[in-house]
Amino acid sequence: MTAAVIDGKAFAETLRERVGRLAVDFTVKAGRRPGLTVVLVGEDPASAVYVRSKGKATEAAGMKSETIRLPAETSQDTLLDVVRGLNADDSVDGILVQLPLPKQIDEQAIIAAIDPNKDVDGFHPVNAGRLATGLDGFVPCTPLGCLMLLRDSLGNLAGKDAVVIGRSNIVGKPMAQLLLGESCTITIAHSKTQDLPAVVRRADIVIAAVGRPEMVKADWIKPGAAVIDVGINRIDAGEGKTRLVGDVAFDEVKDVAGAITPVPGGVGPMTIAVLLRNALVAAHRNAGVPLEKGAI
Ligand code: NDP
Repeated sequence: MTAAVIDGKAFAETLRERVGRLAVDFTVKAGRRPGLTVVLVGEDPASAVYVRSKGKATEAAGMKSETIRLPAETSQDTLLDVVRGLNADDSVDGILVQLPLPKQIDEQAIIAAIDPNKDVDGFHPVNAGRLATGLDGFVPCTPLGCLMLLRDSLGNLAGKDAVVIGRSNIVGKPMAQLLLGESCTITIAHSKTQDLPAVVRRADIVIAAVGRPEMVKADWIKPGAAVIDVGINRIDAGEGKTRLVGDVAFDEVKDVAGAITPVPGGVGPMTIAVLLRNALVAAHRNAGVPLEKGAI
């Protein structure tokens, strides 16, 4: 069997176009553009690249993008003041504080200070609680993107056995909650899981969110399973070069799986597209402009 390769890049482009059209409608109705503000503390090169591409994507979708850059030595109190200022600013619909933060700042304290209705990353405990209890709220972008790809590829997910490898607050746990919401039977695996290959072999749906290059092998996969690879790992490609690989050994797993996301070009592009989607939803809620259910 050769798996269908799930084209996250194409799906994300379509989603971004849809967000762009709805952003135009919103601007007409609200008399202002939806606004997303990203806060970057310090000069971590990877974070700077992410923040730049988020800014560009936000503008390209017809939204107002603002980036607040603060020095690496910024204190927690200063950052809290910045967040409170953004909470109070009606032209800001979404707030994203780029992680990781410098050591002197408690990330959880900052996340908890963001207005949950502007928390487009979906990391605030109120939004985690809303997801866990089935209430409307913001869902972290990467797992929501994975769910969109799975629904598009498989249709109804009810009754499927899903194994999520990884239990982080930003990917693994919300992913498991989302799949539970789709009536899947969920197993969450982590570094203490015993006989991981046997656990994964039961799954109709495998989500790998580990951060270990090509860990998931072909003989872990039930034939025909859908495999979503969240991992982004940069490895040595020889001759001084590097390349990106996921947590799944794509070249061998594609011969067993029914559907698989590549790295790059799978889950990665979905994350920013869903961020824009969340910002658009936030704008509608915050401005009291109705957004038709299922429009996005
Ligand atoms: P974390 O490091 O926060 O979590 C990793 C999880 O993997 C932990 O729960 C850990 O278990 C588990 N784990 C580690 N080693 C093993 C092992 N040998 N067997 C089973 N489980 C293991 O990572 P994130 O969730 O933040 O990210 C995961 C991956 O996804 C990374 O590669 C990251 O770069 C990528 N990522 C990609 C995004 C995208 O846009 N595509 C967005 C976010 C992340 P334990 O809890 O026991 O330590």
